[in-house]
Amino acid sequence: MAGVCLFGSLPAKAGARLQAWEFDTGQNRLVFSTESGVEPQVSWLSDPQRLVIDLPGILTESALGDRFVGGAVAAVRVTQADAQTTRMVLEINPGYSLDPRQVKVWGLTSQQWVVQLPGSTPTAPDDGLAMPDFSKAARPRPLAVVGAEPLPPLISRNQVSTVAVRATATVLRGVQTTAEGFFIPTAGAAPQVHVYRTRDASQARQIVIDLLDAAIAPGLTPEALPQGRYGIHRWSINQFATAPPAIRMTLTLDGFSPDWQITPLASGGIWVTPIGVAPNQIAAPPTTVVLPVLNPVATSPPSQSRPPAAAVPAPVVASTPTPSPAARGQVLVMLDPGHGGVDPGAVGIGGLQEKGVVLAVAQHTAAALQAQGIAVQMTRQSDQTVDLQPRADMATAARATVFVSIHANAVNMQRPEVNGLETYYYSDAGQVLAAALQRQVLGTMAMNDRGVRQARFLVLRRTAMPAALIEIGFVTGAIDAPKLRDPRWQAQMGQSIAQGILNYLGSQP
Ligand code: ZN
Repeated sequence: MAGVCLFGSLPAKAGARLQAWEFDTGQNRLVFSTESGVEPQVSWLSDPQRLVIDLPGILTESALGDRFVGGAVAAVRVTQADAQTTRMVLEINPGYSLDPRQVKVWGLTSQQWVVQLPGSTPTAPDDGLAMPDFSKAARPRPLAVVGAEPLPPLISRNQVSTVAVRATATVLRGVQTTAEGFFIPTAGAAPQVHVYRTRDASQARQIVIDLLDAAIAPGLTPEALPQGRYGIHRWSINQFATAPPAIRMTLTLDGFSPDWQITPLASGGIWVTPIGVAPNQIAAPPTTVVLPVLNPVATSPPSQSRPPAAAVPAPVVASTPTPSPAARGQVLVMLDPGHGGVDPGAVGIGGLQEKGVVLAVAQHTAAALQAQGIAVQMTRQSDQTVDLQPRADMATAARATVFVSIHANAVNMQRPEVNGLETYYYSDAGQVLAAALQRQVLGTMAMNDRGVRQARFLVLRRTAMPAALIEIGFVTGAIDAPKLRDPRWQAQMGQSIAQGILNYLGSQP
């Protein structure tokens, strides 16, 4: 539904604003995004029970106002607490009790945050009629005055830390999400793995995987690791300059995660699968894509290009985050799954929603690129609401090499005969990328060719790097819709798009 959704553009704004928020009652979580980075301050107030999230430096829009939610959270109220602070108040239904120590806050990026509430238990039969008294909350007061107990900053996010090490037998290339778990692709010798289980300071279960004589591939970023998938709350991957060098991967599990078995393969790679699920039962094997010859700068670590004067041992700084690959002159692909969150995108035959299809396809594209050592970032990793301008901004901030937006098309439901693939560009550089995508996908997927076209889509106009928008079929099409909802087809489409991107990258000087 690009024609409707993408031409929209927000009016210019003076201050950083709260852009969107959504409370997912199924997952009991609040997701919100802001125009600039923010450090949310979360507090718990009792009598009545409220979770207060202050966003310093963020202004709000009246249009984002209050919403009634239902269930454990009766309503979410958004107010301007003071001239510089937006306050979001989650009113807990009096019929429920929540343990505020179980509330978790983490940033997907500095501009996108998730507030996860614990599972809540009704304290009394919920007749659906009990409503909280909003009169007190209508006048927000400073938290200290009402005896708030500030929560510890439970900010949890993936981590990758590197130190310079000598060449190793094995190279860890990333983590892919598969149909039933994870696959950790490696290059070089079969991984030597030691696994043990422990708990962190807050008693969360952890699985620790030590890889001996191993190094982290350059360009691996925390954003490229799975974000909260399958109950793994956090991935931490740390390089140690031991002899031989070693990598420690720490998986922190949430309360709902199964236990996991770790299976290294003689042919390379490590399966991470739930206990009781044999790796060979996994439906979706890791994707393989033929890699074109890339500019060497894309794969060599920066230390190798240093002049001889830098023969001084490189400084060993543990826990320094890896700089973004693009900052080091490496290839970075920004993938943009269209829509998400409150915006389903096009809705087609059988209620098929564009937002879910394009996210699944983009995840396959990301996995296929990462398997080839290409760094990938995504404008959204889950069913999140993200505006258009921030998507372009993310690509600019990350200094992405290319930007590829993935959408599905629609016409009205009375036109099931309209099916096929279209790819859009705005700039001349984007035209080359769009043509490479269209050619590769048509070469591997049986689809009607609707051509490569120029269009003034916002994400194409506001991105400086080569950018393309691919419409992978019509959710209203009698031929396309059944394919779009097929997970195997989604995987093939994701891999075809990855191959198209690789073809384009390989063709560039
Ligand atoms: Zn769309």
